Amino acid sequence: MKMLRIAVLASLCACAAAQVTAIKAGRLVDPDSGTVLTDQVILVRDNKIESVGKGLAIPAGAKVIDLSSKTVLPGFIDCHTHVADGKSLGADPFNVLKKTASQIVLESVVNARVTLLSGFTTVRDVGTYRALNDIALRDAIARGDIVGPRMYVAGAYITITGGAGAMTGQAPDIQLPWDLHYGEANSPWEVRQKVRLLAHNGVDNIKVLSTGAVLTHGSSPQSVEFTPEELQAAVEEARNFGLRVEAHAHNPQGIKNAIRAGAASIEHATLIDDEGIELAKKNGTYLDMDIYDEECIQEDGRKGNMPLDFLEHDREMGEKHRQNFRKAVQAGVKMSFGTDLGVCPYGTSPKQFAFMVKYGMTPMQAIQSATTNAADLLGHSKELGSIKPGKYADIVAVSGDPLADIRVLENVEFIMKDGKVYKEAGAPACMQ
Ligand SMILES: [Zn+2]
Repeated sequence: MKMLRIAVLASLCACAAAQVTAIKAGRLVDPDSGTVLTDQVILVRDNKIESVGKGLAIPAGAKVIDLSSKTVLPGFIDCHTHVADGKSLGADPFNVLKKTASQIVLESVVNARVTLLSGFTTVRDVGTYRALNDIALRDAIARGDIVGPRMYVAGAYITITGGAGAMTGQAPDIQLPWDLHYGEANSPWEVRQKVRLLAHNGVDNIKVLSTGAVLTHGSSPQSVEFTPEELQAAVEEARNFGLRVEAHAHNPQGIKNAIRAGAASIEHATLIDDEGIELAKKNGTYLDMDIYDEECIQEDGRKGNMPLDFLEHDREMGEKHRQNFRKAVQAGVKMSFGTDLGVCPYGTSPKQFAFMVKYGMTPMQAIQSATTNAADLLGHSKELGSIKPGKYADIVAVSGDPLADIRVLENVEFIMKDGKVYKEAGAPACMQ
């Protein structure tokens, strides 16, 4: 039903593509096979890819987009974003108390637009301080009311009271608004109740906080928070609703607890040890390691925009994180692309590609992490992740060869999402 609605609305939009569009692709990256094809024609009908091949006949009346001098890729997927958290006022979570939920969601409209215009046609949004803001944003984008990536959302953080996903640091007699402590749970049954509530409210995935965090007052990234029983309850209850669980975890024990409980992905996986790497490989668990955002945390620190206790949490973890990323890549663990977008400015997700290559991936592996692997993690490989018949027409293009210089992905020149062009090579972006 939702798919049908997206298709109908896409065709009604002011800058929608013609019913049939033929894209001439000089080079076409196929992350499914890890190869690059040349001189391909992609036929797009409405919001779906109809066919792809060399020398395909272009139907009369089709709109032709000539990308024969470009490298064409599937739209990218960022598996760890916080698009619905509004305009950052610095890293302090207390800043959300200075704004209403409406202000934050309206500011997030801009976040959604710049995220799409950086080449990311899909995001998995893994938590928002103001619970359910992300659902409103997802639905407004899907209706075509505003411009943004296709969103899969978590609705809220499921966390222990005082833990990584909670609002912390306020005096005990301060009563928070309901949406700022929506996901707090302190037993397996409370975890199940939160999962049920979020499922009822229409989330696409469940976010649990297995360990403490860097960017939370009074929470140490070195500490274990949810118990194995609570994590198992989250995964089992989510499964009952057809949902997958992503687990935030820095500390090595918390990482292993979440892998053993059956989480689909470990977020950050900062201090993962050899046993954790082995377990992730054995269980097919994705590691979603945000190795670029350290640049922004330290930069904010230098500018005095980062609370001192957060910088203390972060000290020395950045380099260990990146070395552990290298180990996990070498071990052959499944890796997805997630940036913790919102820590770094919206629109900067593409900068992580170069760091993934610097720390051990081939350029093709980095591209696969944000396409085929990300689609697999989301459970949407049939619709997303490569340019194949039947999938959504989510297509981007760059000048140059990303396999020779991965940084060309930082300048995406053409963006189509759901069959609709948002940025045309050589033309200003469609901001409708
Ligand atoms: Zn995050």
